[in-house]
Amino acid sequence: MSNVEFIKPTSLQDACEALMKPDYLAIAGGSDLIVKMRNGMYPNLKGLVDISGLPPLNTIRTDENAVIIGSGCTMNQIAKDQLIKDYFPALAKAASTVGALQIRNSATIGGNVANASPAGDTIPALFTLVADIMIIGCNGRRQIPIVEFFLSPGKTKLAPGEIIEGFKLLLRKTRGEFLKLGERRAHAISKINMAVSTWNDGKNHYRIAMGSVAPTVLRCREAEEYLESSEQLDDNTIARAAEIVSETAKPISDLRSTKAYRKQMAGVLLKRALQNLR
Ligand SMILES: Cc1cc2nc3c(=O)[nH]c(=O)nc-3n(C[C@H](O)[C@H](O)[C@H](O)COP(=O)(O)OP(=O)(O)OC[C@H]3O[C@@H](n4cnc5c(N)ncnc54)[C@H](O)[C@@H]3O)c2cc1C
Repeated sequence: MSNVEFIKPTSLQDACEALMKPDYLAIAGGSDLIVKMRNGMYPNLKGLVDISGLPPLNTIRTDENAVIIGSGCTMNQIAKDQLIKDYFPALAKAASTVGALQIRNSATIGGNVANASPAGDTIPALFTLVADIMIIGCNGRRQIPIVEFFLSPGKTKLAPGEIIEGFKLLLRKTRGEFLKLGERRAHAISKINMAVSTWNDGKNHYRIAMGSVAPTVLRCREAEEYLESSEQLDDNTIARAAEIVSETAKPISDLRSTKAYRKQMAGVLLKRALQNLR
């Protein structure tokens, strides 16, 4: 690690240019990256580009009919923000469950998404809120829906020199829930997690996404359509929606949990989430 160059750029442009160099990585809170470096996952790493102090990344702001959450916002910042709590409760709840207090003070939402773990807790919430990812690189900016961003565990559509600048969410009041199961009630990586967001614009809309049940976070379209076409959210409707997500989940067994447990818990978490929302 001692031969790794540490760069502290003063602008996003400089950060993108530094990240064009082979084997240079962005570092924000460092809560994923430092652990991976210590575990020897980057034997050829040549440089770290510290994006944590770049001001435009650390704010939550409104822009016409959208809310823009900077990628450098920490979990605690998001969990405590009144606008996020009022409009996007699934995301506020997800952020509030990440690690413990010290981790939430340094872990950023951009790092959680760029790390691309199928268990990343803010990702299902961002799926349900139909977030767009705002990306900046040396050749300008682009925006892609979060559902299209992930390729496989740890792999995303970010190109060399690109940084996640933020997340754009429609300024629309939603109701939402986020639930997760881990080895302990807190400070544990999810064996499975689940986000649900719902809103009404004359019609009921549901978005459901779950993590740790497939190589990337999974949106549950069939259950969403079933709920949207149901006249009421009674026990029978909830039970059928729970069966559907259980069938949708495609988990594997690994050191954190088994395939059978995850499949069963997918249904249990959706049932609990919908009961909390009705
Ligand atoms: C003890 C502990 C407990 C944890 N508990 C949880 C948990 O409960 N739930 C959970 O989801 N995670 C958990 N994590 C993982 C971690 O805290 C989160 O994933 C965190 O959000 C990562 O953010 P960071 O700012 O620390 O990212 P970093 O570690 O700084 O970066 C992670 C990766 O993202 C890249 N990156 C960072 N920011 C950007 C950006 N803006 N644009 C492009 N690439 C970027 C980096 O190059 C790196 O590859 C835990 C970690 C620890 C150590």
